[in-house]
Amino acid sequence: MAFKQRVFSGVQPTGNLHLGNYLGAIARFAALQATHDCIYCVVDMHAITVWQDPAELPKATREVTAAYLACGIDPKKHIVFNQSQVSGHAELAWVFNCVARLGWLNRMTQFKEKAGKDRENASVGLYVYPDLMAADILLYRATHVPVGEDQKQHLELARDIAQKFNNDFGDSIRAHEHGDMFFPLPEPLIQGAATRVMSLRDGTKKMSKSDPSDQSRINLTDDADAIALKVRRAKTDPHPLPQDVKELEARPEADNLVGIFAATKGTSKADVLNEFGGAQFSAFKNAMVDLLVAKLSPITAEMRRLTADPAYIESVLADGSARAQAVAAETMRHVKDIVGFVRS
Ligand code: ATP
Ligand code: MG
Repeated sequence: MAFKQRVFSGVQPTGNLHLGNYLGAIARFAALQATHDCIYCVVDMHAITVWQDPAELPKATREVTAAYLACGIDPKKHIVFNQSQVSGHAELAWVFNCVARLGWLNRMTQFKEKAGKDRENASVGLYVYPDLMAADILLYRATHVPVGEDQKQHLELARDIAQKFNNDFGDSIRAHEHGDMFFPLPEPLIQGAATRVMSLRDGTKKMSKSDPSDQSRINLTDDADAIALKVRRAKTDPHPLPQDVKELEARPEADNLVGIFAATKGTSKADVLNEFGGAQFSAFKNAMVDLLVAKLSPITAEMRRLTADPAYIESVLADGSARAQAVAAETMRHVKDIVGFVRS
């Protein structure tokens, strides 16, 4: 069966939106609008898998929404909403909790990293996070999912869940006239020169909202001075930039900065090295500050303007949630029939 092409993705309202979220995810979300029907979610139910202050969560939810809009996502042509307003996410996640196997979840590296040494004390939600993520995508029977490199493993799990659901319920799916497959196997779109932006302090660690060091990341709310300071302080090695992309492999900090530069400019690492190969980091960093400030400051200003009007942002989310709910409700009716739940 041919599925309608549809894009779904999400960002957690866990505070401190950063350059990695922008280059790896939100900028890609915006680009896909030209070619696909897109659904972009603020995944507040994922956020509470680690503790969120209830007084801060609504603000963080509005901030991610503002970032979507400020980066050019059009909430009228596409759908922008927050996850907890559409009950199908939780309902389908429960079905998927019963489809996914413990062994599959045990392999997830994000859980291991986030739970750390104190696994026994991690929330159950953090453990089944990938099942909820599969539900987010498949509730809309989405075919394409733009994400950063760190989410690749979860996307593979979503495909495994879709496949197992299609197999386990195959007879019922055919009996209800959906052909051989009810869910598509969603494809990750991991694109651009910065699919895994690393910390500015440690080239082996992902830039992350939850990193305690603010110096590790460029926030979408940082002003020009903060960006300049963080870039100039970013960790590097003592050698000039290489001419050849291959030489970046052994130099994680250099690789990261070149990748950030390329993705921000919309070009390749090779192009950047054509221009800066042989240059000292000080010169390269100056050019990088100019580039980042030019790119980010209009976004930061627009986010500030939008977040000053919470009622407007909440109206965008209400409208998007109603439209998402209509699609989700149809999927859930079919899922309930396929699984054998009595419904009225
Ligand atoms: P948290 O630390 O709370 O998990 P996060 O920074 O990982 O926050 P998420 O909301 O989990 O952000 O992820 C949103 C999107 O941003 C995902 O598609 C993810 O792959 C992408 N992303 C996150 N960090 C990076 C990064 N450093 N480089 C590229 N993409 C990233
Ligand atoms: Mg994350």
